[in-house]
Amino acid sequence: MVEGWSSQGKRHVLCLILSVGLPQAAAAFGLEHRPNWKDVDKPVRFIINMAHVPSTYPEAEYVALIQESFKPWTEVETAEVLFSIDKSVIRDESKNRPQADGVNMILWNVGVIPRNARTWGRAFPFGDECDIVVELTTPFKRADVVHTIQHEFGHCLGLAHSTAVATMARFSHFLPTLTHDDRVGISVLFPNPRRPLNQVTATLRGRIMFSNGEAIIGAVLSIVEGATRQTVLSGFSGLIDQQKQVDRSGRFELPGVPPGSHQLLIQPLKMYGGVSDDHHGIPTEDFPDFQSLRVDLPKLKAGDVEDIGKLVVRE
Ligand SMILES: [Zn+2]
Repeated sequence: MVEGWSSQGKRHVLCLILSVGLPQAAAAFGLEHRPNWKDVDKPVRFIINMAHVPSTYPEAEYVALIQESFKPWTEVETAEVLFSIDKSVIRDESKNRPQADGVNMILWNVGVIPRNARTWGRAFPFGDECDIVVELTTPFKRADVVHTIQHEFGHCLGLAHSTAVATMARFSHFLPTLTHDDRVGISVLFPNPRRPLNQVTATLRGRIMFSNGEAIIGAVLSIVEGATRQTVLSGFSGLIDQQKQVDRSGRFELPGVPPGSHQLLIQPLKMYGGVSDDHHGIPTEDFPDFQSLRVDLPKLKAGDVEDIGKLVVRE
């Protein structure tokens, strides 16, 4: 789900995942347990229902904007998103709600879901299909359409929310396209065997605990890039195997660390206030509280697997 509102002159977008009929499961970058189309190797057809689309732009332009929003997901080098998008347009007033009918549909219907007035969109994965409801209210810009659908399509692909600067961030950074964190997430879900992620990036391992040895599961891990000071990658403690498997001893494995000099920032989830209701796929509902810790990482090269050992945080 994407939400937007104005607050003290600053605009935000709030995005929430809704996983209907899917098991809740672990994973970082907010990976869901399984993407809907994992085994699909033929074009996935999306129907665009223009029935309630505002007249802001011509119909052909909406189609072009939707194409623009999908495209970056299929162009990640380290991912192999096998399906392509075959779009067609209908104008059907009766199909104004997401439904499990075997048809992937993008529809525009403000207020289709009980909510406040700030929602921009929501994805509805129904097992083998996914509907995207766009709820942008006028006025809106082309970039709002692209951003909203790009984010919701990420949910359809199996990504949940990220705490990094990313298209899949719940609070939008109004990015023009995908970021490193998005690309790592999709590469873990749809690996490209001809260009493995771990050959062009580094892998970071470690273990987070209190001084008494108690494991910390669900600490937010952020790779803060040396040059930009931005969080370029995120994950959680207590998740190993590229953030796909729960580890009760507080270990973590973070794939996709860009080569270079960075810091690892370890924070309790409460630092990301308001994002806990979908749990980001974290394997705990008992979010530990502790003092944030910032660690300088050794300079990493592509292909490195760096184990930084135990990191102790204070209560
Ligand atoms: Zn969302």
